[in-house]
Amino acid sequence: MSAKKSSFNHPKFGQIVIVRNARARRIILRARPDAIYITLPIAAGRQQAMDALQKYGEKLQQQRTNITRHIDFNYSIDAPLFKLRLKAIESGRFYMKREGEEFILLCPTETDFYDSSRQQWLQKSIKNRLRACAGEYLPARLQRLSADSQLKFGKLSIRDSHSRWGSCNSRGDISLSIYLMLLPQELIDYVLLHELCHTKEMNHGERFWQLLEKLTNGQAKELRSRLKGYRTDI
Ligand SMILES: [Zn+2]
Repeated sequence: MSAKKSSFNHPKFGQIVIVRNARARRIILRARPDAIYITLPIAAGRQQAMDALQKYGEKLQQQRTNITRHIDFNYSIDAPLFKLRLKAIESGRFYMKREGEEFILLCPTETDFYDSSRQQWLQKSIKNRLRACAGEYLPARLQRLSADSQLKFGKLSIRDSHSRWGSCNSRGDISLSIYLMLLPQELIDYVLLHELCHTKEMNHGERFWQLLEKLTNGQAKELRSRLKGYRTDI
């Protein structure tokens, strides 16, 4: 909504993106693969952002390096709904194939996995596949849960969102992250039901949680805390 972005390169902590957000109540720092993001309330000064960065920068930078998983022949994704691994081929070109439940990305043995453009290309290929799977699975699943719970939604969009698993606006339009495909089924359902509940209750008040607890057989809070152990990235 009313967010303003600016970015710069910090000598010690690299790329920094400052987001001024009218709705932010406090300073929030997040490590993402591309930068450290600092969300500032409108009233906060740039110095406060710098102070927070001094204090937490080192830790965030550490997190950042862990975020982007290096992709090579040891890389694999083994989520219930999305499985992928790399396999070496003697010669020829890169290609993706499906073997049963699993996607296999075939790469020539001489592939230079330390080449950063090669890493980017591999990430993009994996994300494309994840997006395609999300596009096949999520609309039908949301439709199903919507019918079962009698909670109607507006439009559905599926995005490469790192910041949220899902969201719902005041028109009842729901947006879902492609990274949901990396979660166990019950956590995917939790996020979908959470967003469906927002079509009735726009906030996280008592009535919202009552509804969500009802739809998750009293598991909502537990599912919510389990969700915190997962990341929105490949
Ligand atoms: Zn919510």
